[in-house]
Amino acid sequence: MTVDPGQVRRNLEVVRDRIARAGADPDRVRVLAVTKGFGPDAVRAALDAGLGAVGENYAQELLDKASALATVSPKWHFIGRLQSNKVRLLAEQVSCWQSVDRGSLVDEIARRAPGARILVQVGATGEAHKGGADPVEVRALVARATDAGLDVAGVMAVGVFGDEDATRRAFHEVVALADDLALAERSIGMTDDLELAVRAGSTMVRIGTGLFGARR
Ligand SMILES: *Cc1c(COP(=O)(O)O)cnc(C)c1O
Repeated sequence: MTVDPGQVRRNLEVVRDRIARAGADPDRVRVLAVTKGFGPDAVRAALDAGLGAVGENYAQELLDKASALATVSPKWHFIGRLQSNKVRLLAEQVSCWQSVDRGSLVDEIARRAPGARILVQVGATGEAHKGGADPVEVRALVARATDAGLDVAGVMAVGVFGDEDATRRAFHEVVALADDLALAERSIGMTDDLELAVRAGSTMVRIGTGLFGARR
């Protein structure tokens, strides 16, 4: 699917306006452009619109786009379910690992990308298939990552599709946990639950559809 850079710029204005209307300073809530399902042109359009950070869910898709782009390089954030055996392949590209949810993954990232920046994904909704560490395990996981020399910048979480109350509860739990652990970055909010996330204290929203349109 082709992406119109002008449309992406206009869509970004809409996203920023939604952030402002939800009560946050749009300069304080970063927008991560989620390009899964779109080609390298979506990454170029994001960079063009002034977004330097791009999120991908699948290892191969990220690597394909990175090699197609060649001369331009965004800051790649890995946001999908991550198998340990993919870390080595991704280590050169990824600047922030957002979906770190278990000790074995911490150890592998520390081995393949020493000192890397990570977020701990918290599974506050009880939906195992979405990944995320059990909230009671997050403190230990953060300690393990810090001990391994990783830069633990914050937490990440995914809401519950179609359930505002559960999403709001999850976001508040995740933000409280981040407060508790003195972690600054709170990567919560996608196209459909951006307002809930901003009101809960998001510092980074991860936006795909809202920038690039519907994925196939
Ligand atoms: C796909 C995805 C997004 C972006 O979702 P949209 O609804 O398209 O904005 C954000 N975060 C994660 C973890 C995703 O998998």
